[in-house]
Amino acid sequence: MQIQLEQIFNIEGSSKDLSFVFEPEYSLSDDFVLETPVTFSGGVKNTAGIVSLDGTASFSASVACSRCAERFKKDFSVEVRHFLATKLQNEDNDDYILAEDYMLDLQALVCEDIILSLPVKFLCREDCKGICPECGKNLNSGNCTCKKAVDPRMAALLELLED
Ligand SMILES: [Zn+2]
Ligand SMILES: [Zn+2]
Repeated sequence: MQIQLEQIFNIEGSSKDLSFVFEPEYSLSDDFVLETPVTFSGGVKNTAGIVSLDGTASFSASVACSRCAERFKKDFSVEVRHFLATKLQNEDNDDYILAEDYMLDLQALVCEDIILSLPVKFLCREDCKGICPECGKNLNSGNCTCKKAVDPRMAALLELLED
């Protein structure tokens, strides 16, 4: 989705609303499945010659808990904030996004920001107990009947006591 920003770049004080809803063309993560389209609400503005993009991307996705593998729904809200430039002085300058010929691929930029913002792990809840390594039972729904592994030092002590 290319957005034409020539007016914004050329007129100080100008601004433009860029809110839109879209379905990403590719999967944003192997770890989740989108349950809603992505809603971006924000805009661009030219403040004293500096063009900035500011907004929030929100969506819901079904994710798998990294501890118990249970799937759950999570709402995401990702800040999208960048300065835009039609030329970059320095290719490695991460502070500015290039809008060559005043064109910006906003959807690609939003997708990129979403991917960068995703946590490495999702937990269904802070104190998720995970699954039992022995029987595979989800311990959030109650304890299993597996014996707790006894500390080897404790086992040695118990043996001594038995003699
Ligand atoms: Zn969990
Ligand atoms: Zn168990």
